[in-house]
Amino acid sequence: MLSTVFSVHFYERSVMSSMRTIDDYQKLFNTIYCVHNDRIYETPDLIIMLARSATYLLKGVRKGKLERIQPGLAESFGWTMAIANREHISLGMKILHYFPHVCPYCAKAPCDSNSHNRAAGRKDLDSFRKDLVVESLNANQTMLAAIYPENVLVDSAQHLVEEVVEVSIADFINRRMHSLPELDQNIFEHIVLELVDVVGHLCAIANCVELNLSEIVDNTFGIGCPGCKKPVCECSFSYIAEYR
Ligand SMILES: [Zn+2]
Ligand SMILES: [Zn+2]
Repeated sequence: MLSTVFSVHFYERSVMSSMRTIDDYQKLFNTIYCVHNDRIYETPDLIIMLARSATYLLKGVRKGKLERIQPGLAESFGWTMAIANREHISLGMKILHYFPHVCPYCAKAPCDSNSHNRAAGRKDLDSFRKDLVVESLNANQTMLAAIYPENVLVDSAQHLVEEVVEVSIADFINRRMHSLPELDQNIFEHIVLELVDVVGHLCAIANCVELNLSEIVDNTFGIGCPGCKKPVCECSFSYIAEYR
């Protein structure tokens, strides 16, 4: 069993970091944290842990403690992967579905926010979705920088926390709606969309400070859990509760 775990881990390490897709990262985080997370967290708990990391990042930005940005980005990304894994969502293509190289509200790149009509919602983006193939997280970040070149760090960090709250609300509603007879098939997709928005804002923050999110995640989690230093996490909950 142990050798299987290590061989899977070795295989994932063999993927060039700059080439890793979000789906590759979901597999990496599944290897490191799936057992641990399944044993101690419900989905709402995972969202709380994401909120904790995103808030740590936002407070760092607001107070000028910019050394918090890299760990905040890495940990927030990790919890986002954990939520996607728990809910069996594959985000690699979903980020392109919602951001098909153009802004979803004006269908332009770079975004022309003056033309946004929030009441009308998102544009019909089907014509932009043809021939899309999954891209590396690095390419996703570059694509978002091209759509939103004027993002500002504080706004992006605040927006990240808003998106985390929206993940929580979407999950809350999904859990209550799915048992109702008037099932709305789109309810679950709201969780997917909000998780995409979280990844989008992690990329936005990284773009604002000219950091590479993929590299930060690799440097933090590339050889396993940074807490217990194991390829498959064995951190105690008391360690996690007292962290920071
Ligand atoms: Zn726009
Ligand atoms: Zn650990």
